[in-house]
Amino acid sequence: MATISRSDRWAGLLLRGSQLRYAAAYLLITSGVLLFLNIYAPITIRNLTYSAQAKAIEDKAKLIVSAFSNYERLDKEIAAASVQSVNGLRATRVLIVDASSHCLYDSVGVGGTEGKLILFPEVTEALRGNDVIHIHYDVNQILSKAGMPIVSYNRIIGAVYLLEQNQDQAALISSLQRNILWISIGLEFLVIIFSILFSALFSRRMSKLFLSVRKMHDGDYSVRLPQRGHDEVARLGLAFNELAKRLNQSEEVRKQFVSNASHELKTPLASIKLLADSILQNDMDAVTTREFVSDIGNEADRLTRLSAKLLELTRLDTQPVEKHEFVHILPVADRVLRMLTPLARKQNIQLKLDCPAECAIEGTADDLYQILFNLVENGIKYNQAGGWVLLQVQQNEDTVQIGVEDTGMGIPDHEKPHIFERFYRVDKARSRKAGGAGLGLSIVHDMVLRNNGIISVEDGKIGGTRFNLSFSAIPGKGKNV
Ligand code: ADP
Repeated sequence: MATISRSDRWAGLLLRGSQLRYAAAYLLITSGVLLFLNIYAPITIRNLTYSAQAKAIEDKAKLIVSAFSNYERLDKEIAAASVQSVNGLRATRVLIVDASSHCLYDSVGVGGTEGKLILFPEVTEALRGNDVIHIHYDVNQILSKAGMPIVSYNRIIGAVYLLEQNQDQAALISSLQRNILWISIGLEFLVIIFSILFSALFSRRMSKLFLSVRKMHDGDYSVRLPQRGHDEVARLGLAFNELAKRLNQSEEVRKQFVSNASHELKTPLASIKLLADSILQNDMDAVTTREFVSDIGNEADRLTRLSAKLLELTRLDTQPVEKHEFVHILPVADRVLRMLTPLARKQNIQLKLDCPAECAIEGTADDLYQILFNLVENGIKYNQAGGWVLLQVQQNEDTVQIGVEDTGMGIPDHEKPHIFERFYRVDKARSRKAGGAGLGLSIVHDMVLRNNGIISVEDGKIGGTRFNLSFSAIPGKGKNV
């Protein structure tokens, strides 16, 4: 049963942490945008309305001022007649004052304000000769005020004061402001809901991924994530599944390898134990004892060879590829044949070499030696007395071809695809007798790949087996001319 460990809880917290961070980031961004909208939009609309109002009241004030263009001085009658002569003038209040700021005409306070001193700032400013427009927002209305001097022959003879109250525009602005605010609150609410929803969804998927990684960490390589969607998390899941599949495969290979290796090690060890027990228990003569001890020696040799090969495979699996160098094949092939001549003589096998001196590959000399050694050794081991092993090298424009051919028993077609597998033996009895554990060819195969080569196997021309290797030739070097 799966238990929630401390690190799982940490991961949960982390995920929740990132979920919170995402949600907070969404909220912060949208709040910023909405705040900006709530401030900027009403200000812009208000400014536009104000400038439209200012233009309208300025035009009206100018119209009234122009009605006085024929007068050199002002009185109550002139003021009233001139204002009324302006057609279609719609204003909340119109005031006309003389040069000393006394009211001559008031559209709202008829009788009340006439003759009184008017001290509105717009009027005072207009009597100094300046046009003044003031617009401001007041509770639920826009107040527009204008003051403009009435000039006759470069002399200020009075001033016009105009007041306009616009409730419709003010109501429009405040309703717009209210609408924007409600829409913002609604949007913010939606953002909160969606960010919680999305981040919960995201963190659920991440939690699944994390739990799968934990399972894999605990050794369960069969775990797979369901494939949904094409986003980053789905791609991560796909990569995870690939990784789990690979790990599963290599775990299988590892288990197989360990079980094969233990089996291979067990057999000679059991023989050694049996032989040693027999020597101890039986009262045998010196000749038989010597024979048994020699058998123990042979089994120990087998163990040594086996552990050397296992070490070689481990080295191939774990150590990085050595730096490739320019390797001439002839000296390496010569050394291999020299080393194997005693074995070949013992089995009455002839070793033949056909290798032009110029042939060279880019690789590792030690690897090339091991490759050729294992192939030629197999050619001798699985041959028959009086046979031969040929090591043949050819080079053309792009490739160097190496062939190792023998006149032995050959390999049946259905066995050929498996012979590069670890611990695979065709003729088990004969291979064991020859001291093999089914590792030589898999070492060859791994080394050929490490040196960017290709290896294949076919029947020899006159029976037996032929291994073909192909490596890239070094351009301009070692060409047969
Ligand atoms: P081993 O150490 O047993 O020789 P290898 O990996 O070198 O293991 O070879 C795998 C098997 O392939 C051998 O057991 C043998 O049966 C077969 N084999 C390899 N080379 C030859 C060959 N030249 N002729 C016939 N059979 C061969």
